[in-house]
Amino acid sequence: LLLENRLIDTRVEQPSASLHDRASQFGDGVYEVIRLYQGTFHLLEPHLARLYRSMEELEIRPAFTKAELIHWLYELVTQNECKEDAIVYLQISRGAQIRNHVYADNLTPIVYAYVAEKERPVTLMQNGIHACIEQDIRWLRCDIKSLNLLPNVLARTNAERKNCQEALLVRGNTVTEGSQSNFFLVKQGTLYTHPANHLILNGIVRQYVCSLASGLGIPVREEMFSIKDVLLAEEAFFTGTTFEILPMTHLDGAAINGGVVGSVTTALQKAFQDSIAVSTMQ
Ligand code: PMP
Repeated sequence: LLLENRLIDTRVEQPSASLHDRASQFGDGVYEVIRLYQGTFHLLEPHLARLYRSMEELEIRPAFTKAELIHWLYELVTQNECKEDAIVYLQISRGAQIRNHVYADNLTPIVYAYVAEKERPVTLMQNGIHACIEQDIRWLRCDIKSLNLLPNVLARTNAERKNCQEALLVRGNTVTEGSQSNFFLVKQGTLYTHPANHLILNGIVRQYVCSLASGLGIPVREEMFSIKDVLLAEEAFFTGTTFEILPMTHLDGAAINGGVVGSVTTALQKAFQDSIAVSTMQ
């Protein structure tokens, strides 16, 4: 299956352009990871809405319309004959410029995207994952999906070395999110997650899970909480485009809910699964 990294559009003609790409020198750009189930985009619109918001916040001005971008993305999937569970990685750099902290305002953004086969994490979804606490040392604009991911990379690598599948980030007394996911806990039947402010990325699956919860009559509260709250929680899980809904059964070795995946988590996973089945039938 032809799902290798393929460029759909490199908007810089000069061969040396990549050397001067502000994405590689400053992490000056934004990205999205979008899900495909059996070759069908899932939640494409909210991903693009967030991409445009990220670009606006950074004054990256695309030289293409949203309709053109959507066209390229569909072309990428069709040309690669993608009929599998996959992801599209889409990156937009501010553009190429001789290295200078100050960005010129006439740069042409550099766009590239690839599609890659990506299985759903079925076993982890069923059994849950172990996580460890890491300090959230990121900047104060985590709401922008920027290419600057060093703190996330360091936290996630530390987690891997501790045989954990995700790092739970903590800023002061507050649990913010995962290194590559959002975080929820269940307390007295109510879902809690960090408010969508500058301290977290407002995940597309986070928002989707909140709406699924409402549909199931599960109350949702966007409030801050501490590690202690997590340890006392009835259930806890991470969400993300590749994670979907991953139960956290252990935090720094301590079992949550006796290390068993809880019923609220399972109900949300089922609702999510049902929605995929509907979207891939269309
Ligand atoms: N927070 C962070 C820091 C992330 O990197 C991600 C994954 N991109 C998420 C949350 C989850 O976002 P989404 O549901 O849009 O994949």
